[in-house]
Amino acid sequence: MKIMPNRMDRGFFKYQEEFEQKALEVLRSGWYVLGKEVSSFEQEFADYTGAKYCVGLASGLDALWIAFRLLGIGRGDEVIVQGNTYIASVMGITINGATPVFVEPDSYFGIDVDQIEAKITEKTKAILVVHLYGVASQMDKIVSLCNKYQLKLVEDCAQSHGACFDGKMTGTFGDVGCFSFYPSKNLGAFGDAGAVVVNDEQLANEFKIIRNYGSEKRYYNKVVGANSRLDELQAGLLRVRLKYLKELTEERIAIADKYTREINNPQIQLPGVPDKSTCVWHQYVIRCEERERLIDYLNEKEIGTIIHYPIPPHLSEAYGYLGHQKGFLPITEHYAQTVLSIPMYNGMTKEEQDYVINALNDFA
Ligand SMILES: *Cc1c(COP(=O)(O)O)cnc(C)c1O
Repeated sequence: MKIMPNRMDRGFFKYQEEFEQKALEVLRSGWYVLGKEVSSFEQEFADYTGAKYCVGLASGLDALWIAFRLLGIGRGDEVIVQGNTYIASVMGITINGATPVFVEPDSYFGIDVDQIEAKITEKTKAILVVHLYGVASQMDKIVSLCNKYQLKLVEDCAQSHGACFDGKMTGTFGDVGCFSFYPSKNLGAFGDAGAVVVNDEQLANEFKIIRNYGSEKRYYNKVVGANSRLDELQAGLLRVRLKYLKELTEERIAIADKYTREINNPQIQLPGVPDKSTCVWHQYVIRCEERERLIDYLNEKEIGTIIHYPIPPHLSEAYGYLGHQKGFLPITEHYAQTVLSIPMYNGMTKEEQDYVINALNDFA
């Protein structure tokens, strides 16, 4: 049985008729940018997260860099972020000229909250929390550190749509919650898309101004902005998927629960979820000291896997200028060498799940 690490087509065919109907509706409307689909999606996504406002943007990376820019963070400022994240989190910081200060992760792949305080300096302006793989981070401790040191708090929720800490949704704990709707994300569009959620009306308006060339009123440009508009087609399709996000998340949780119950190979370490957090299983990430051999073995059984991520940002060529050497973040680097995301997607059949579980249990 051939199993791919992700199957985005299954998520489409599940609601094919509704997606196609919505696409036709938008195509035939004659209105394609900043219209009623975008404003309806913004209202519905704000309601879903429990935030007051949502502003649709062109991508998750845009959500991040525009957030730091509007919070006044740039050259000479430091932002604390976990070492084991997707490089976009770090680019969101550095595009504005600010410096990322890396902290090691805990055993749940989230930022190790006990190591943050030691990294705070006079230059620290913000903490960027990444709810990696769909696990909500330990927000109580992070929020109290931000209050104690008067730091801005930005959440990278590109992988955590719907994940909660202590009953409250990720993205609503700090100044800005940044979301990506890249097709493979839990709430995926059919192309690039993103959004922020905020509780401050003025800040929401500033996002709307930046995304549209710095103008509120057409051809009156207040600031040098960007073109980062969410388009009507993506917004309409996202509205369809958002209606089913709760059941789509429950399906992922059921697959993860089955994996956790039935994979029992001492060579494979399974992911956990900390107290008070929920996980929406953007990825199901196992760890294995003999990862390369495991990948080859799974390939032979036609089971596809992905490494999220093989090179931590501080060791990437792009961030060579920061001057970090191998060994600087031993836990992050060890994760990069041992993590493996096994197949996890909406519409994964029970037979496919069993095939993956049996293969992993037979790995010697
Ligand atoms: C996908 C992702 C992003 C970037 O989102 P894009 O929409 O691709 O720009 C940022 N951070 C994390 C953790 C992501 O997984």
